[in-house]
Amino acid sequence: MISADMEGATGVTWTDDVVPGTEQWQRFRRLFTGDVNAVIAGLADGGATDVLVNEAHSSQRNLLLEDLDPRARMLTGRHKPLSMMEGIDTGVDGVVFLGYHAGAGCDGVLSHTYLPNQITGVTLDGIPASEGRLNATLAAEYGVPVLLVSGDDKTCDDAADYAPDAAHVAVKECISRYAAICLPPSRTSADLTTAATTCMRRAGRGKPTTTPHHIDVEFDASHLAQAAAVVPTVEQTGVRTVGFDAPTMTEAMKTFKIVTAIADGAVQGKYG
Ligand SMILES: [Zn+2]
Repeated sequence: MISADMEGATGVTWTDDVVPGTEQWQRFRRLFTGDVNAVIAGLADGGATDVLVNEAHSSQRNLLLEDLDPRARMLTGRHKPLSMMEGIDTGVDGVVFLGYHAGAGCDGVLSHTYLPNQITGVTLDGIPASEGRLNATLAAEYGVPVLLVSGDDKTCDDAADYAPDAAHVAVKECISRYAAICLPPSRTSADLTTAATTCMRRAGRGKPTTTPHHIDVEFDASHLAQAAAVVPTVEQTGVRTVGFDAPTMTEAMKTFKIVTAIADGAVQGKYG
């Protein structure tokens, strides 16, 4: 399975590159599809018999199906219970985090966690958590190894901590949140394919590990914490923070999704 986000795709460095409908997005969805195809080719070379691509960015309608490698199937569109990780519970033998990015409040190209700006930090069991760390913990609950992570160099640094055995491919070097030294697609494709082939050696489900988890979320304004705290099990823990316990990572991610949706709905014009 490939969980395909867009901020960490080849060449992407700023907002318009990843906002559906813009001219830049039309350009970068082709490069994004190129990254996905490069990984599909590598996974197939490494022995994968089926690849499910789960669109994980924004509207979750970014990749070009007409250009997709025929060895893959694509889950496109929004409103999926496990969101970025929909499909992880269907018996897959490994997951690739493609086009991922650094977490909220961290240095990295287009760094954020779920919401673009309103979330300033997330911790999982006391550890600062990017989308990658959250999703890797969810994958572990189904015994699925993270095989490969791609994004900028900061994404790879992050993945080295939460998925040390995975392959890491940096398609660009972060200079600032909106600037990077980018490798052309001809180079990143080769790197992604090679890494995807090699990482298939680690494919195969292990023992599922279900444990309770605690998530804390910090917002950039007090009313977002107040709004999120109406969710059962979610408590306001400070002026701009909420926290909650969950018996499993699956439940934790579902609650996190509700928290982000409610906070997003409470954002007001210029003041946020
Ligand atoms: Zn993302």
